[in-house]
Amino acid sequence: MVARKAPARKTAKPKPCPDCQTGQVSESFQVGGRRKRESSDRQEALCLTCFGTGQAPD
Ligand SMILES: [Zn+2]
Repeated sequence: MVARKAPARKTAKPKPCPDCQTGQVSESFQVGGRRKRESSDRQEALCLTCFGTGQAPD
């Protein structure tokens, strides 16, 4: 006999996005011509994993 588990609900809490906290990621960008170096500045960018929702996609 297999113990039956309660069926998973579709309305379960969404998982947080693994790549961001708020739907945005701060990424460094490269500056300079020949010598690529990372700027200390960072820019906010939309998280492409969750498309800005902050929730992990199914
Ligand atoms: Zn995200």
